[in-house]
Amino acid sequence: MQPSQMPLDFDYEVRLALFDHIHRLADAGGGHVTAAQLNSGLSLNGKRIPVWSQQRGIFRPAVLRDFGAALTIHSSFDSPYDDHAHPDRERLVYRYQGIDPSHRDNVALRRAMQLRRPLLYLIAVQPTVYFPVFPCYIVADRPDDLAVELMADAIGSDIVHAAEEEPLANIGLKAYATRAVKRRLHQGRFRYAVLRAYYRQCAMCRLKHTPLLDAAHILPDRDERSLPEVPNGLALCRIHHGAYDIGIIGVDPDYLIHVRPDVLAEHDGPMLRFGLQEMEGGIIQVPRRPELKPNRDYLAERFSRFMAA
Ligand SMILES: [Zn+2]
Repeated sequence: MQPSQMPLDFDYEVRLALFDHIHRLADAGGGHVTAAQLNSGLSLNGKRIPVWSQQRGIFRPAVLRDFGAALTIHSSFDSPYDDHAHPDRERLVYRYQGIDPSHRDNVALRRAMQLRRPLLYLIAVQPTVYFPVFPCYIVADRPDDLAVELMADAIGSDIVHAAEEEPLANIGLKAYATRAVKRRLHQGRFRYAVLRAYYRQCAMCRLKHTPLLDAAHILPDRDERSLPEVPNGLALCRIHHGAYDIGIIGVDPDYLIHVRPDVLAEHDGPMLRFGLQEMEGGIIQVPRRPELKPNRDYLAERFSRFMAA
């Protein structure tokens, strides 16, 4: 059956309206939604429907009581981030509420699986900022581990499959979407942790405009030793991130900044002079806490590639 021909019961209507709403918020918010936005709820047919509970991970609004399936789940910033350890990169793991599988919240989770309802999964990338994953399906229940497994069904914008009746349909696409979700999640958490460690300023030029700051990897992201951890990162502004990545600027293991000789010899406008050439011989500003400082072995390895180029 085509999604457009599917009988649209009220439960579906709420879910699709929620996805549409979250899609618009995330679009305007650089892919993220805030707790304050979520607290405003959803307006549907002139009524306000709450969409989550900041205190409880598993949420089903009162208007969906008859259907009984959870609508939204979220993990807080402090909650254990199980997905790192989970060997299957194509699944997301979500912990039950408490340790009683028959707790009403856990029943609502299972009900969503039985009824094959798409959910919104909010994963914290900062204390009150969430990366929304939707539509998302519960594909397995693991009562012995007090957890369920989920798969994303699309990458953010495409909710065409939301009215699909079979959670395990299009498994290849779901695997692809779930891997993409995990990558974006790692990037979001990495950026937050690195920017916080570096006092939200560029390690080279001290620029403090957060929207212009990135978390650069020292060992490239594709390197299998490259973990989304602060010692493998540097907070850099867009220009210095780009210059570091393409080898115009290097940083040696003693934190000294080097500019490529041919770029040092160029003559051009103020961006070249103040933005690049005057970095030569400077020292990057690193976090004070030893466990957050950049890994010197990684810097050395990266720097040897800069010198060889
Ligand atoms: Zn900079």
